Amino acid sequence: MSTRAVQPRDFIRQIVADDLAAGKYQRIITRFPPEPNGYLHIGHAKSICLNFGIAQEFGGVCNLRFDDTNPIKEEQEYVDAIMADVRWLGFDWEDRLFFASDYFQQMYEYALHLIKTGKAYVCSLSPEEIREYRGTLTEPGKESPYRNRPVEENLELFQRMKAGEFPDGAHVLRAKIDMASGNLNLRDPVLYRILHARHHRTGDTWCIYPLYDFAHPLSDALEGITHSLCTLEFEDHRPLYDWVLENCPVPCRPRQYEFARLNLSYTVLSKRKLVQLVQEGHVSGWDDPRLPTLSGMRRRGYPPAAIRRFCDLIGVGKRENVVDVALLEYCVREELNRTAPRVMAVLRPLKVVLTNYPEGQVEELEAINNPEDPAAGTRPVPFSRVLYLERDDFLEQPPKKFYRLAPGREVRLRYAYFIRCEEVVKHPGTGEIVELRCTYDPATKGGQAPDGRKVKATLHWVSAAHAVPAEVRLYDRLFAAPEPGAATGNFLDDLNPGSLEVLTTCWVEPSLTRAAPGEIYQFERLGYFCVDRDSREGRLVFNRTATLKDVWAKLQQAQQQEA
Ligand code: ATP
Ligand code: MG
Repeated sequence: MSTRAVQPRDFIRQIVADDLAAGKYQRIITRFPPEPNGYLHIGHAKSICLNFGIAQEFGGVCNLRFDDTNPIKEEQEYVDAIMADVRWLGFDWEDRLFFASDYFQQMYEYALHLIKTGKAYVCSLSPEEIREYRGTLTEPGKESPYRNRPVEENLELFQRMKAGEFPDGAHVLRAKIDMASGNLNLRDPVLYRILHARHHRTGDTWCIYPLYDFAHPLSDALEGITHSLCTLEFEDHRPLYDWVLENCPVPCRPRQYEFARLNLSYTVLSKRKLVQLVQEGHVSGWDDPRLPTLSGMRRRGYPPAAIRRFCDLIGVGKRENVVDVALLEYCVREELNRTAPRVMAVLRPLKVVLTNYPEGQVEELEAINNPEDPAAGTRPVPFSRVLYLERDDFLEQPPKKFYRLAPGREVRLRYAYFIRCEEVVKHPGTGEIVELRCTYDPATKGGQAPDGRKVKATLHWVSAAHAVPAEVRLYDRLFAAPEPGAATGNFLDDLNPGSLEVLTTCWVEPSLTRAAPGEIYQFERLGYFCVDRDSREGRLVFNRTATLKDVWAKLQQAQQQEA
């Protein structure tokens, strides 16, 4: 079946489909153009899924191009991290890895062409003066006194700028367009500036650097990009994008299309803010599991398939909106529910001694690895006289709807037996409960009583002698407000002080002894947990990926009931 027969999912795919149908292009070429000045975040994932997705669906290709035109903020570390993240998300640029800096010579020649054709000039106003002369949305700008420099003088000055004869800020190269334009981007925009800075790839070869609005259309044209997709804030730049391509002798004419960027509730996606969170130590690094960076989400245990699914669900449109972060969490749970093996772990242990279970006896009980996936099979879990249960699963004075363990009450242990609480042992000094003494009913092996009696709760547990010690890091949202900074203007004011809780006395079942970093499990009744890279032999460290509570599904249900 041809993909073209299917109704395109969004306005950009519609444009691509129409262009192909009209024979405008033989092959679609898109690009993902990150600036290597930070790590990728979930907003970039939207752009990656769109650009690579369109190429895949329409039999085209997508380039990875680093937009590395600002040497001051860019680093090799970011280049490496971005490549790793795009691959992890599941996309492949094959041999099409490009850098805007590879085109510096070509761009310089295009600039010379503009000068020679009277379309660009060297301006020697200071940066402040340039700003003053630009005018405002309601007032036209003023022409620079340097605007009518003769071509020869412009050529000579521009070459001397390149040769390093002037300090930063002494001159710039500007396009000669229209200082009275209603679009400020067309008021003789700066194309090149002097920057005596070492570039992470070109070293000291250049001391003039092209600006985004000049470099981007030219890079697109040099790569034969057909559809140049960017976010809405570039809509007003499109006339300049087109001007550059019209006035430079480029090999082809890419078109720019804009879509709404992703905004997420309880999250900041501005690179400037993310850099600040990392550099000021509000988080542990770029891959802190609370960050919306792709490396943070990977460490948190978010599967790439869940992120791709999320990007599919939110779609691509022209209207700015804020997506509920619960939708992303829903996608994560959906994916992990299908794929994550179930195991038992106890986060806040309470010791339980089965007084009638023989000392030294160990039984291997059979546990189901994934009820959603019969092919996942079963595993043995050891059971013995001393167990750990979750502290929350016992209450000495249970309120009405508490059905779990309480004095004199019987519950089921998952995959094991019914047990009854006979005695509560307390610390003589503090009164804290330190141990429960229980009995088990050997006739209830496998969790059923032959006499048909019922229990109202099934609890998870681990065998104390066999369990592996673990640290578990419980994450909550990094920000406590849906729109961080909305109230005070400073997003840091909304940092959630409870976004990380570390539990250091946890136990997990022994099947996890050799669990490797990156593996994700469902701890029965507790949530999804991912093995962290801080794990060491004999001491595992887990990040909580998600709880089991699905806020999104509940919201949907409530809405359906209302309707
Ligand atoms: P900067 O403020 O540094 O320009 P940026 O977020 O635009 O930050 P880039 O590296 O320039 O970062 O982004 C690469 C690509 O990802 C661009 O095409 C950009 O439009 C897209 N992108 C960035 N943020 C989002 C977002 N929140 N939603 C969708 N696309 C985004
Ligand atoms: Mg950008």
